[in-house]
Amino acid sequence: MKIYVAGHRGMVGGAILRRLEARQQAGEALEIVTRSSSELDLTDQAAVRDFLQAERPDQVVLAAARVGGILANNTYPANFIYENLMIECNVIHQAFQAGVRKLLQLGSSCIYPRAVPQPMREDALLTGTLEPTNEPYAIAKIAGIKLCESYNRQHGTDYRSVMPTNLYGPGDNFHPENSHVMPALMRRFHEAAQRGDKEVVVWGSGTPMREFLHVDDMAEASLYVLDLDAETYQRETQPMLSHINVGSGTDVTIRRLAELVAEATGFQGELVFDASKPDGTMRKLMDVSRLERLGWKASIPLDEGIRDTYAWFLEHQDSFR
Ligand code: GDP
Repeated sequence: MKIYVAGHRGMVGGAILRRLEARQQAGEALEIVTRSSSELDLTDQAAVRDFLQAERPDQVVLAAARVGGILANNTYPANFIYENLMIECNVIHQAFQAGVRKLLQLGSSCIYPRAVPQPMREDALLTGTLEPTNEPYAIAKIAGIKLCESYNRQHGTDYRSVMPTNLYGPGDNFHPENSHVMPALMRRFHEAAQRGDKEVVVWGSGTPMREFLHVDDMAEASLYVLDLDAETYQRETQPMLSHINVGSGTDVTIRRLAELVAEATGFQGELVFDASKPDGTMRKLMDVSRLERLGWKASIPLDEGIRDTYAWFLEHQDSFR
């Protein structure tokens, strides 16, 4: 079995690669193919075609994407829609042309409308207006799901999509402004604790609620869904509603998250909420019953996951400077 992991340098792709390598070491006959972005530009149609025609993998995991938090999405909307659409079109179409039977595409919970009943079910897709701060990214990811479904319907392929909630963990982007809330706060609290600051600024009101999933749980869930036999997968999904939510099933306020991160980093001062920064969606919790019916459940608790991520941060902090 030959499997190509697109985006293996990213947080999720990296976690998936680690899991596949562990399987290899356990004796599974697995050939893993990867390319860094400098070796293969996934927005380049001809380059992706040549690569997939030469490699002809049996399976593809599409974990490559332009991603970022609220500010990055607001600042670089053209990058977010263009690059993600190009990557999906190139990888999915050229995988089909190269005879790839099974493909797993990774998306995000931001595909769901802004005002959607919580927890968000898969069938909430395309029932309303998207959150404006990340609409370009969300449109690209919805297109990715529809690409997979369309190739399945027209060509009989077995291309699947998983939509994770907010992910965190080793390998995350710890950029102070362009990253997601968990790594941004971890870095800010860490630096404040080192300096002995009395206050740390947290964006927004602190009242929005978010669900978090450790990236190792996400990697396990992704390969679980990829490995499901077609009959089991099709029993739970429909041809035009094929994506599967992946989450922990519980959410916390941003204030609570900030407290947990403060605790892990040893910061003892006050939290100050900066109302001039956007809150974004007030609540984002996934309905994970589809995945649970298929037999998978998250296992890493949030406090433990934060400690594990902070340990990784401490080991790698020199590379963020
Ligand atoms: P979202 O889940 O798509 O809204 O993306 P984010 O992870 O960027 O933001 C989640 C929530 O955390 C929002 O309500 C932000 O305002 C809040 N937040 C608080 N502090 C920060 C921070 O330092 N960085 C980011 N990105 N978000 C923060």
